[in-house]
Amino acid sequence: MATISAGTASWRVLAPCSTLFSPVKTLSSHARKYQQACHRWSTTTATPLVSSPASVKAESQITTSITSTTSTPKALPPLSALPLPVLLRSLFVSAVSSHRQLLVPSLSILTFLTKPNRGFLLSVDRNPVLRWSLKQVFYKQFCAGENESECRRTLDYMRSMGFEGTILTWAKETVFDHATGAAYAVGKSTVATSVSSETCPHIEAWRIGTLHTVAMLSPGDQLAIKLTGAGALANEAFAQGKLAPPQLMAALDDICIASRHRKARILVDAESQHVQKGIARTAVDLMRKYNTEGHALIYNTYQAYLKGTPARLAKNMEIASDEGWTLGVKLVRGAYIASDARNLIHDTKEDTDNAYNTIAQGILRQDLFGRGGTSGKPFPSLNVILASHNMATQMAAFGIHKERTEKGLPIVPVRFAQLHGMSDVVSFTLLRETDSLGASPLVLKCSTWGSMGECLAYLLRRAIENRDAVSRTLDEYTALKAEVRRRVW
Ligand SMILES: Cc1cc2nc3c(=O)[nH]c(=O)nc-3n(C[C@H](O)[C@H](O)[C@H](O)COP(=O)(O)OP(=O)(O)OC[C@H]3O[C@@H](n4cnc5c(N)ncnc54)[C@H](O)[C@@H]3O)c2cc1C
Repeated sequence: MATISAGTASWRVLAPCSTLFSPVKTLSSHARKYQQACHRWSTTTATPLVSSPASVKAESQITTSITSTTSTPKALPPLSALPLPVLLRSLFVSAVSSHRQLLVPSLSILTFLTKPNRGFLLSVDRNPVLRWSLKQVFYKQFCAGENESECRRTLDYMRSMGFEGTILTWAKETVFDHATGAAYAVGKSTVATSVSSETCPHIEAWRIGTLHTVAMLSPGDQLAIKLTGAGALANEAFAQGKLAPPQLMAALDDICIASRHRKARILVDAESQHVQKGIARTAVDLMRKYNTEGHALIYNTYQAYLKGTPARLAKNMEIASDEGWTLGVKLVRGAYIASDARNLIHDTKEDTDNAYNTIAQGILRQDLFGRGGTSGKPFPSLNVILASHNMATQMAAFGIHKERTEKGLPIVPVRFAQLHGMSDVVSFTLLRETDSLGASPLVLKCSTWGSMGECLAYLLRRAIENRDAVSRTLDEYTALKAEVRRRVW
């Protein structure tokens, strides 16, 4: 397929059961009132508690059941947490995503619009009608905002829904299409193939834009960085498997220090295979330098769909163990199947699922690739973010973590992450989980910010992902439809 851009929860221990659902500072006042109501109820009955951030309607429903002495409160579905406008927009988008006859033309239109140098009528940045329609539906569903105030509103909204924070990323990126051998700066014209100067204006622009992103973050948020956004000089180095050029390494130092100051972690995104070796080397170099205080400030991303990932991760575990720093692992399945060399990727979805689950569960059990378990070799200090929309994967991982916590076994700090606008049912199902100690998983939503033009390729990637996950999107559509029906009737 041609030039598809690819670019880009530790535990919060709640109070013990008797005080479960005491106010959690990250929840909105509605969610707080709802939890207080549940707390009042929990002290007078022995029926299992209902735990979910709630919409106003959900709150009024549960309050009604609390005031009745005879009725048993019914657990609200996870999607009851969504505000009505978000629910309706999600329903519309998932209706398109789950029906091929709607998705295929939408994909063609989106692909067409991402091509650079369009005339006025077809330019999303210049045609106000086109821009408005795309913004209200697709942009708002998946992206954080075009400027700081829009982004801050989205970050506040995420916290108010109960998420630990947002993984925020700037949309600027470059994609390498294996089929055509061309690199594209997303939403812009083709990338210059070489830059001779050592002081590169693209790297400086990326440094400023990324520091701007850091400035929007609060403790518990994460910065996701796509290193290809730094332009041709950086990409040339990455394509040769080299570390980022000195100017970019200096920029990354500025970014790491600023993020550490804000108590926000940094996730280095995995990108096209063409550049990934250099990106991963750079990420390991940063982890070695900044992950020295017993926890991960920097996370490298590992793509489970690559046949070579187990060997690479095993090597990084060995280096971290030998050198005594914390390995930050963000585990994904992989988003570049449409543009990367197919032979590097597992032959079937099932093989990718097995690879993801083996790595995720091995990390949580501290028994992977001949380290930990009964191997006699120590398991390295490791923090993990499980980034996936796959309910079975996430619930199985949470189950292992929960069991180990309850048995008092050593645990690996874990967070769970989904993309903004996708798989809310997975996010809210996780958010309402607790173990017998009252510990709740930390869940993050990942959102992208940037101009409409910059974000189009990101939106296209989401659409392609949905096309390739028909059964998941159909499940999402069914769950959203059921929630709309529940609120209406
Ligand atoms: C918070 C977050 C951050 C992310 N960051 C990155 C990143 O930095 N880099 C990156 O590459 N991706 C990233 N992704 C996207 C991720 O890689 C997946 O594309 C996406 O999450 C879909 O996988 P899944 O586990 O959610 O769901 P599922 O629907 O269970 O899996 C779909 C995935 O399975 C794989 N797959 C599908 N068909 C086949 C097949 N025939 N053969 C082999 N494998 C197949 C593909 O990877 C596909 O994306 C991120 C996702 C999230 C949620």
